[in-house]
Amino acid sequence: MRAGSLRMWLRWCGGAALALLIAPGLMAQQSAPRAGGKPPVHGQAAARLLIRNAMVIYGNGKPAFGPVDILVRDGLIARVGTTPAGDPAPDAIIDATGKYVLPGLINSHMHLQDERGGRPQPLQYEMNLYLASGATTVRDVGSDIEKAKRWRAESAAHTLVAPRILVYTPQWRTRSLSAADLLAPAGASLEALREGIRWAKQQGADGLKFFGMDRDQLEVSLDEARKQGLRTAAHIAVEETTARDYAELGVTSIEHFYGVADAALDGIQDFPPDHNANNEIHRFGRAGELYLQKNLNREKLSQVLDLMIEKQVIWCPTMDAYIASRDLIRSQNVPWLKDYLHPTLEWYWKPDLLKHGSYFFGWTNTQEVRWKKDIQVWMEALREFANKGGLITTGDDAGFIYNLYGFGLVRELELLEEAGFHPLEVLAHATVNGAKLIGMEDRLGRVRQGFVADLLVVNGNPLDNLRVLNPYGVDVVKVGGKVVSNYSALVPGDPAIEVGRGGGIEWTIKEGVPYHVPRLMEEVKEMVTRARAAGK
Ligand SMILES: [Zn+2]
Repeated sequence: MRAGSLRMWLRWCGGAALALLIAPGLMAQQSAPRAGGKPPVHGQAAARLLIRNAMVIYGNGKPAFGPVDILVRDGLIARVGTTPAGDPAPDAIIDATGKYVLPGLINSHMHLQDERGGRPQPLQYEMNLYLASGATTVRDVGSDIEKAKRWRAESAAHTLVAPRILVYTPQWRTRSLSAADLLAPAGASLEALREGIRWAKQQGADGLKFFGMDRDQLEVSLDEARKQGLRTAAHIAVEETTARDYAELGVTSIEHFYGVADAALDGIQDFPPDHNANNEIHRFGRAGELYLQKNLNREKLSQVLDLMIEKQVIWCPTMDAYIASRDLIRSQNVPWLKDYLHPTLEWYWKPDLLKHGSYFFGWTNTQEVRWKKDIQVWMEALREFANKGGLITTGDDAGFIYNLYGFGLVRELELLEEAGFHPLEVLAHATVNGAKLIGMEDRLGRVRQGFVADLLVVNGNPLDNLRVLNPYGVDVVKVGGKVVSNYSALVPGDPAIEVGRGGGIEWTIKEGVPYHVPRLMEEVKEMVTRARAAGK
């Protein structure tokens, strides 16, 4: 273990007091020490960590297999299989009997946030929630680049308890354009755009976030990004350029849904005369109608998807970021907000047109119904895109719109199943595809010998219920104390039947360093309780 992480760990834990705070139910889930091996220490890499008796979800969509042992050494997966007789004794053991092990998830669209609207919020709060939800890698597509670079380095050194961080900065634009240019980008010189991208490269960005561009600006920007060897992520607004332009000119990934439906319209968006793109009620309300417009040409939509596939554009939909628009009361009342919602976020989410995504003023049933129908078409497009060979990744874009870090990522997986993907495919989106998106498919995204030991040890089978990945856990049916499928032959009235709690990730292992998820969540609860008591 690195001394730095030990110090930080002690600081967050507050020593022995923490053990008393951990709910007894959560403690019970931790692998009990067994003869011949002790469980790992939270935040401390063991020289030889053995995960014993695990069912493995490999990552690329092939069926689960096991039970097998997984040996972790020097941050890598050293072996997947049977432990040979005479193998040196491990320094720590995770007993994964009855558990599933899968690659750490790649959250391919998120924002590093240590404040909201100018109010502070501990970065650790967000980082704990992401690790607890299984994200071992995050692609930051918009935060302060200086801070992001520092956190990226600290995470790589394991001095910050956090997923691996990739920085895709939008700040290249603010370096190259004046405020006036940003409002009226047509005024920006094309050379200034190139300079901004070169600046980002010099700063050590892993990639670039694009938005709001005319065709000529997009052309030079993507050209310069290619020259600098930087990958690009595009949030397309309603503008001159659509997914067609971005695909033709070689963007790496398209985020959300914007620009895809727009490219399939015969004509343009049917906004009423008073539509104001700076008013988020207008913008988000009507964004949920684009796939429903009468002039949406399904044939054209298929052609746009074909072009995206031909140009190898990856699609990161972040459906969970829009789900409050189709189901507001659910999003406002999910049970985990009670213990885990930081007061800064709670404040930020209150309706206020000056805060991004806080547009829920008098949200109507009609608006929700339109979003529901719109999302159905969007889901069909995603399924068609993947059926034809397109790559989909999973990002949660949380921190806005009643979308809590990490919980949003698990919700995204659920929504992809709703879109028609098998849970194994969904997990491939979150692992192998995510690794391809960031160019790390030779190291990440698979439970494979020689790959980086980013692993999740899950209480339960995510293929049976993706919700077991939710740090809040799930309801389970038990008969005689043993978890069974709710489709098993239950006899009504049998007193041995009970409803219990289960699920949750037990251990999130990042580059060989194990983090105990109940502890991460207890720390989150502590941070929230403290901030609430301080009235912040
Ligand atoms: Zn975003």
